[in-house]
Amino acid sequence: MITAIRQNVATILSELPEGVELVAAAKTRTPEEILEAVEAGVKIIGENYVQEAVRAYEVVGRKAKWHFIGTLQRHNVRRKTVEAFDMIETVDSLTIALEIDKRCGQVNKVMPVLIEINSGREEQKSGVFPENSERLVREISTLQNIKVMGLMTMGPRFGNPADSMPYFVETKRVFERIKRLNLPNVEMKYLSMGMTNSYKIAIEEGANIVRIGSKIFGERDYGSL
Ligand SMILES: *Cc1c(COP(=O)(O)O)cnc(C)c1O
Repeated sequence: MITAIRQNVATILSELPEGVELVAAAKTRTPEEILEAVEAGVKIIGENYVQEAVRAYEVVGRKAKWHFIGTLQRHNVRRKTVEAFDMIETVDSLTIALEIDKRCGQVNKVMPVLIEINSGREEQKSGVFPENSERLVREISTLQNIKVMGLMTMGPRFGNPADSMPYFVETKRVFERIKRLNLPNVEMKYLSMGMTNSYKIAIEEGANIVRIGSKIFGERDYGSL
């Protein structure tokens, strides 16, 4: 049976240029919906909540890779978190990085991470300000059990997609600048930008990971997440 989820995934995958990876942003979706997206060709699931991820993991398991894309607090960086996820996209402070490093040390794992950039410089939003990002990357690069592999940014979720452009341009600029530093233990490979309303613009501005929820699964029941 061709369901909406299958159709949506097929459409998106056929549109994405070579080298751009799709992360299915799965918050509020059931494990069955997530499994369906995986069976349609999604290779990476993005989870905002550890609890939801654990439930989905029981059904989907290793049929996909798991990226953490939510807000990280020290208390939810547990052993289980670092065991379950293949990448954490939302590291924005040394405090969080130290906690990930400690937990990964306990399970003998090196965690690939992206640094979340607060490209709009909004105080209430997560992410490190662009001007502070180089220092954070340098600090994190000294940790044994973490490897910085690029940057992530949100940009505004609603409104005219074109309004996202300056945020993406700014993040790409920071990405290139840090890349040119050739820091040891840092591999600037991934730039995760763009959601349902903005991923096409994000790709034009250099994203090679896009995180898409509604366009795969339909509108969420509530709009605040
Ligand atoms: C929900 C979410 C997305 C996807 O949003 P859509 O507008 O549903 O595509 C992408 N990234 C993050 C971090 C999210 O929380």
